[in-house]
Amino acid sequence: MNIANSRQIYQQQTTLFKALAHPTRLQILDLLAHEGEACVCHLTAVLGKRQPYVSQQLMVLREAGLVDTREDGLMVYYRLRGEHGPGLRDLLAASRAMLGLPVLVPATGPAPGCTCPKCRPTP
Ligand SMILES: [Zn+2]
Repeated sequence: MNIANSRQIYQQQTTLFKALAHPTRLQILDLLAHEGEACVCHLTAVLGKRQPYVSQQLMVLREAGLVDTREDGLMVYYRLRGEHGPGLRDLLAASRAMLGLPVLVPATGPAPGCTCPKCRPTP
C-alpha cells in the first residue's frame, strides 16, 4: 500500500480525529481513562455541563467507536472501548507532550451534586 492510493485509510483517520476534535470530548476521554468508567450523571457533575450536552458528546464518541457502555440495573456506565483504550491513552498523552502541556488528573472525592454509587456509596 502506498500513500497516494490509500485515501480510505486517511478517511478513517480523519473520522477519528474529528471525534477527538472537541475540548469536552477530550475531557470525557481523560476522565474515563482515569476513572475506568462513569455514568452520565457523574460526568455531568464533574464537568459542570448540562446533561443533554454531555450525552450528545458521549454519542459522538460512541459512534466513533471510542467508548462503549455497560448497564448495571438502571445505571449506564461509559468506558473507553476495550481495544482502543491503550492506544487512545497514548494518543492523548503524545499530543499533550507535543504541545508541552502538563498531565492532568481528576479531582479526588465525590463530585458535587452527583448521586452515582461512586460518589454516594451505599452504607
Ligand atoms: Zn458520581
